[in-house]
Amino acid sequence: MIADANSLPNGVQLKADVCVVGGGPAGIALTLALSERGFSVILLESGQLEADEKTQSLYEGEVADERLHSPPDKYRQRRLGGSTAIWGGRCMPLDPIDFETRSQVPDSGWPISYADLLPYYPQANALAEAGRFSYDADDALDPQVGPMIRGFKSMRVSTNGLERFSCPTHFGSRYAKRLQLAPDVKVLLGANCTAVQLQPDGRAVSSLEVTTLQGIRFSVTPRAAVLATGGLETARLLLASRNVTPAGVGNSHDVVGRYYMCHIAGNVGTLTVHGPTNSVRHGYEVAPEGIYCRRRLSATASEQRRLGLANAVARLHFPRITDPAHRNGVLSGLFLARKLISYEYSKRLNDGHATTLGTYGRHLLNLATDSLDTTAFLAHWLSHRTFAERKFPSVILRNRTNRFSLEVHGEQRPLASSRVTLTDKVDVLGMPKLRVDWRYSSADIDSVQRTLELLATEFELSGTAHLDYNRDTLEEDLMRFGAYGGHHIGTARMGRDVRTSVVNADCQVHSVPNLFIAGSAVFPTSSQANPTLTLIAMSLRLGSHLARRLGTSQAAASLGESA
Ligand SMILES: Cc1cc2nc3c(=O)[nH]c(=O)nc-3n(C[C@H](O)[C@H](O)[C@H](O)COP(=O)(O)OP(=O)(O)OC[C@H]3O[C@@H](n4cnc5c(N)ncnc54)[C@H](O)[C@@H]3O)c2cc1C
Repeated sequence: MIADANSLPNGVQLKADVCVVGGGPAGIALTLALSERGFSVILLESGQLEADEKTQSLYEGEVADERLHSPPDKYRQRRLGGSTAIWGGRCMPLDPIDFETRSQVPDSGWPISYADLLPYYPQANALAEAGRFSYDADDALDPQVGPMIRGFKSMRVSTNGLERFSCPTHFGSRYAKRLQLAPDVKVLLGANCTAVQLQPDGRAVSSLEVTTLQGIRFSVTPRAAVLATGGLETARLLLASRNVTPAGVGNSHDVVGRYYMCHIAGNVGTLTVHGPTNSVRHGYEVAPEGIYCRRRLSATASEQRRLGLANAVARLHFPRITDPAHRNGVLSGLFLARKLISYEYSKRLNDGHATTLGTYGRHLLNLATDSLDTTAFLAHWLSHRTFAERKFPSVILRNRTNRFSLEVHGEQRPLASSRVTLTDKVDVLGMPKLRVDWRYSSADIDSVQRTLELLATEFELSGTAHLDYNRDTLEEDLMRFGAYGGHHIGTARMGRDVRTSVVNADCQVHSVPNLFIAGSAVFPTSSQANPTLTLIAMSLRLGSHLARRLGTSQAAASLGESA
């Protein structure tokens, strides 16, 4: 069932096998997995089915430098479905190398391997509605279709890696009905968890404290509690829960909130491919089951190891939108309409450079002189995006010149100094607000630069293309918009060493046997991959783990007693 928490009597104490806090993709996937195995679940969700300003403002906080990171109430959605209400739907698994301890990435190494997660990826793919779990172009696409760049062959650079696109599925609206009907599931909307209360010895969760914006207070006593509140809010909740230790829950070694990562991303350089325009596959292709897919360039795992590179991919992209020199009507139209687009999607159309009347004039001229292409684009957009259930993922331009920029999406090294902390200010529920101090290192930029160097060499050797980029402006190009969007990673990292991690390989908070974390907060490294598919797979894996733990300890009142 789904109910509004405001309908509960004040002070009520609820019980369940598992209480999941947060109804984003991580929390929803876990709730459905546990319900299928016969466990009772209470899902506490702060938001409602639709967006609501007052609830969203609970996400407000501070950032150390707004040029590097957006305010924390942006790029997050506080409602059922979480940020999938606005996500782009780009899906791909992590690469096996991401799980390794790599000398080139200090503090890398997961306590689990790719093989441990593999059994859960296909179901994660199904929940995200991204088709088959197949991320290699040779396997996923029609074999008759040519390669990404005809004639380009390299043992060091892969062009076969794919990303697949979800509808994009809004987990709230897509799965509300299943949650409503799921046996023994109670989804409480408007239910803000404000503290994780521990037993006096700090070894088990005694209750989760909950408040609604209308002032109803209640608590939940579960056998196991799971925080699935997103990469930033999970750290906030742990740090703000201080009934036993002033440093917060799971934080005896001051690791909660540290190692905060996003992705290093930006458009760089110009790739000129020799030969006819039909020798390049730069846009979306459709897999036989109807899923949009796109190919990417990347250094192979052995080259990453040999050259000491962090993981990164590059897509073939179009020129910088803000600069009218591209003479493209579609891009100029996008630039002119940027005020109509949401903050999250228009941020990259505002690069901080002064826009003069002359710039506007030149964009308008592009629209006028390129009106045929612009009209064709609009017709395609309306039919394939606006009115389509499975949406065409993003703007792709017709390739007229074989010249592209490279859209880089790279791993950043974990840094203890990149962190989120609590401020002295509180929200209307009395919860301390967050301060986000996201940092990157020069090694991150250097790694992207050496990856580009590798691509340039391999293109030159194959005689198929030429890559030009400016080393002197690379950092500026990659940091023009700061940390990449809504990927909030690492604030409660997984590891074997309690001094450098918050949860163990089962996502259990080291010191609290019945407290678990679902979501990208637990990723010890960020990979090149967007995080959502993997965090769903991790939730499903956690579901199996909890089923085993709870199933073998029915007599115990809590996992804390049985462990
Ligand atoms: C514009 C944008 C585009 C994106 N595109 C992609 C993409 O293409 N591919 C990709 O992989 N990822 C993408 N992402 C990231 C993706 O949306 C997140 O990785 C994903 O939503 C995280 O899932 P989650 O369940 O861990 O957290 P969230 O989605 O953040 O959900 C957390 C839930 O917890 C609830 N909550 C928070 N605090 C409390 C509390 N105290 N009590 C109760 N409930 C609470 C929230 O209301 C929310 O429903 C994008 C994000 C944005 C913003």
